[in-house]
Amino acid sequence: MNSNRTSKTSKIKVKKAEKPPYVTDRSKLRRFHSKNIIFERVMWDSSWKGYKQMYDKKALEIVANGKPGYSRIDFALAYASWIVHDAFEGGFSWKKIKLCKTSSASIGIDWTRTKHEVDDPHKMSTLIKRAAKLFGASLIGVCKLNRDWLYADVDVPEKFENVVVMAVEMDADGIATSPAAPAAAATGVGYSKMAFMLAGMGEFIRNLGYEAIQCGNDAALSIPLAIDAGLGELGRNGLLITPQYGPRVRLCKIFTDIPLEPDKPIEFGVKEFCKKCKLCAEHCEKEGGDAISMEDEPSFEIACRSNNPGALKWYVDVERCYLYWCENGIDCSTCIKACPYNIASARKADVTPKEFWNLV
Ligand code: SF4
Ligand code: SF4
Repeated sequence: MNSNRTSKTSKIKVKKAEKPPYVTDRSKLRRFHSKNIIFERVMWDSSWKGYKQMYDKKALEIVANGKPGYSRIDFALAYASWIVHDAFEGGFSWKKIKLCKTSSASIGIDWTRTKHEVDDPHKMSTLIKRAAKLFGASLIGVCKLNRDWLYADVDVPEKFENVVVMAVEMDADGIATSPAAPAAAATGVGYSKMAFMLAGMGEFIRNLGYEAIQCGNDAALSIPLAIDAGLGELGRNGLLITPQYGPRVRLCKIFTDIPLEPDKPIEFGVKEFCKKCKLCAEHCEKEGGDAISMEDEPSFEIACRSNNPGALKWYVDVERCYLYWCENGIDCSTCIKACPYNIASARKADVTPKEFWNLV
C-alpha cells in the first residue's frame, strides 16, 4: 500500500461546517426508490445479469476448494453474525415493540402515556447521545430530516422532524481479512448490533412520551443523513468516512418528534484526499470487482440504476459490486479495508484468516 497516501490521515483536522459538504443539482436530484436497491433488483430486474443470482450460490464449491478464510468455520461465523438482525423484528419497528408473553417488563408503569416536557433541546440531545452510547453506538449525531433522502416509496409524517443517526464500529481485524468470510462476519455483527441499538433507543424515546421510527438501511438513505448529522463525509468508495474509524462503520437512524438540537456537519478534507488516493478503487479492481470510479474528479454521472442521481460524487457501480460478491461466495469489504481512514484506526491493515482466528 502506498505509504504517501496512508500517512496523510495521521493528522485529521475536523472543522464544523454551516452546511453539509456535498453538492447537489436539484434538476437531477430524485428521491431513491427502494425497488432499485441492488438486493431488490436481484429479485425483479430480469434485464440485469444479477437477476436471481444469490451470492451464496458458489459458497459450497468455495468451501470445498479449501481457500483460507473460506472454510466451513468462516462461513458458519459469517452466517451466525446476522442472527439478531434477521430474527429480531422489533429492531426495525415503527411502533412500541410487542413484548414476549413471559416478559416481566410488561408489568408496571406505561411511560408512553404522558410526555416528558422538553424545554431545552440541547440538553435533550445530550441525553439522547448518552443513551445511544449505552446501547452500543460508537458515534451519534442529530440532524433535521431532509426529506430528499427519504425513499420515494416511503411516507414519514411531517411531525418526525428530527433524526438520530448512529454508527457502530465494525471489528477491525475481521474487516482486515476482506474479501474472506470473517470480514462478512464483522459486517453481520454490525447489522445485529444495529437492531439492538435501535430497539433500545426507540423504546427510550417512546418511554419519554414521543414517537420513534427505527430504521436500518430501510426508509431513507443513511449516508447523507449521517453527513447532515455531522458524523463524516462521503468517500470515493460511496461510503461514509468518519474521522474516528474511516468507513469501518454501519449506520442506522431513528426519525422522531422529540425536540432535539441538530449537530453541525463536519469537514476534514475527504473529497480532496480521495481525488488523489484511489486505493479503494485500485483494490476493488485487483479483486475483480472493478466497481469504483478511477476518475480524478467526482461527477453527476450515475454508474447504474441502483445509484441515486443528483449528487456530485464518485458513483459506485453496485451492479458490478454485487456480481463480485457472487463470485466471492459472500459479501466483500475491501473498499473499507483499503481506505487509509480505516487503516489509521485499525491494528493492522491486513489480517490473515489464521491471525483472525488466533491460530498463529
Ligand atoms: S464491496 Fe468489494 S466489490 Fe464492492 S465496491 Fe467494495 S471493494 Fe468493490
Ligand atoms: S474512500 Fe477510497 S479514495 Fe477515498 S480515502 Fe478511502 S480509499 Fe482513498
